[in-house]
Amino acid sequence: MRRTFSTSASSLIASPLTLEPIKSRKAKPASLTITITTPKSQSLTLICRATENPRKKTAPRKSSYGTSRRSILKKSFTQEQVMFSGPLSHDPVVAIVGGGMAGLICALNLDKRGIRSTVFDTGLHGLGGRMGTRIFDPQPLIFDHAAQFFTVSDHRFAELVAGWSEKGLVLQWQGIIGELEQGGQFVPLPSTPPRYIGVNGMRPLADSILSQTCRVDVVRPCWISKLEPFNGMWHLSENGKPRGQFDALVIAHNGKCANRLLASSGLPLIARQMKRLELSSIWALLAAFEDPLPIPARAVTFPFEGAFVKGVDSISWMANNTKKLSYSPRTGPHCWTFFSTAAFGKRNKVPQENIPTATAEKVKEAMLEGVENALGLSKSSLRRPFYTRLQLWGAALPNNTPGIPCIFDPHGRAGICGDWLLGSSLEAAALSGIALANHIADYFQSGGARPNEFAVGLHNEFQPLRGHDIGQFPGLESKEQTVVPLPSA
Ligand SMILES: Cc1cc2nc3c(=O)[nH]c(=O)nc-3n(C[C@H](O)[C@H](O)[C@H](O)COP(=O)(O)OP(=O)(O)OC[C@H]3O[C@@H](n4cnc5c(N)ncnc54)[C@H](O)[C@@H]3O)c2cc1C
Repeated sequence: MRRTFSTSASSLIASPLTLEPIKSRKAKPASLTITITTPKSQSLTLICRATENPRKKTAPRKSSYGTSRRSILKKSFTQEQVMFSGPLSHDPVVAIVGGGMAGLICALNLDKRGIRSTVFDTGLHGLGGRMGTRIFDPQPLIFDHAAQFFTVSDHRFAELVAGWSEKGLVLQWQGIIGELEQGGQFVPLPSTPPRYIGVNGMRPLADSILSQTCRVDVVRPCWISKLEPFNGMWHLSENGKPRGQFDALVIAHNGKCANRLLASSGLPLIARQMKRLELSSIWALLAAFEDPLPIPARAVTFPFEGAFVKGVDSISWMANNTKKLSYSPRTGPHCWTFFSTAAFGKRNKVPQENIPTATAEKVKEAMLEGVENALGLSKSSLRRPFYTRLQLWGAALPNNTPGIPCIFDPHGRAGICGDWLLGSSLEAAALSGIALANHIADYFQSGGARPNEFAVGLHNEFQPLRGHDIGQFPGLESKEQTVVPLPSA
């Protein structure tokens, strides 16, 4: 049976609309293919699948997504797959939702391949996502409040880092880092491989990554809240405000927000992979002290600037950010970034946008106690910091990975990049961004004749990820810490 009719009822539909039942075996759920032809001769095909049990009545699908996790899960199981089937543009524009390392490097590499893109990012203070640096006036106090430093193991990342180094955006961190056992026993890590930091912090590096591109727009702060396929294009909007239309889509963020965005987007395979991702939670305590922290007697030969803390429940990392960022002379203030363990983060998890005062106080005290414990100081002997700021990274680091550089759905013309696809580090995020950009550029170059050949990562199984609680540092593993090598991107 073939019916053609015109309607203006659906926001998705231009005329004419053709409904074609697909021949299906009895055991399989029935499907309808809806082909929408537009005046631009672009076409959009939606394949709508019936539910597994045809007798079971399903509630009518709402047009907007809800907020509860349950409704997100349900909707992404039942949503339709978008099938763009119109010709590919010769001058495509790609929307990149997320301006962390992965999204920025994806935009950079699309630019290198001659493809235009727009990066949307929520950042109020700048780009970078988990490459956050906060400066508090009037002192000023300076802290990297997520990524602290990185190592380099892949030649493509090494090339990027060499370029940043030439431009004075990164430098080698010469300070001593090592492992601090509960009680103050410090073991330095070897000085190779080199550790890199952002000059003046990680955020300025992120803000500079796109400075020499000519085909990238950045829209910030902007929280993309809806993705809609229409007339062969992705239409993005922020709380009802249109943010443009694009030939392809890159999701360069993860966690609850990405799950919500994908739940009703028409990308069920991408949504499913995103939902498999498990993330840790980490508390960050930024603290400024008038005086240097007392160096434990057992670490006196190593005046360390950064330490992976072992055997303390509330602390996994501590670093003197003043020394690291060479901001201040020898006299105070002394700005330290402390991170909790993932186990402590999980036990004390609350909504990160709305941290109850009592929880904040409890967590802060437990973390300061953890610092005393790590340094081998007696209880309450640590001089109180004159400034503190507590933050919860509710979606901090991936616990599992599909181990593939990027995910791409050619029918939906949409892909994912991010650290979690390969590991949990800035390097993994950058390699993922490079991989997706090249994949999308190759796809557009192919003219779209063989879309199935470009499907990647849509069904990969996830494996657990190992590393420090604050991520992986290839080449810098302690004896008991083995980081799984990054697969080639
Ligand atoms: C506490 C902590 C410490 C760490 N320490 C290190 C370290 O020392 N070394 C290291 O190599 N790695 C470290 N990491 C990991 C590293 O920070 C990440 O691997 C890397 O920054 C991830 O980059 P990304 O681009 O994949 O994601 P992100 O940096 O998370 O970028 C995603 C961006 O998308 C934005 N976004 C989200 N939703 C939307 C939306 N709807 N619309 C628009 N924008 C949106 C977000 O605001 C964010 O800016 C640490 C992470 C944490 C949490």
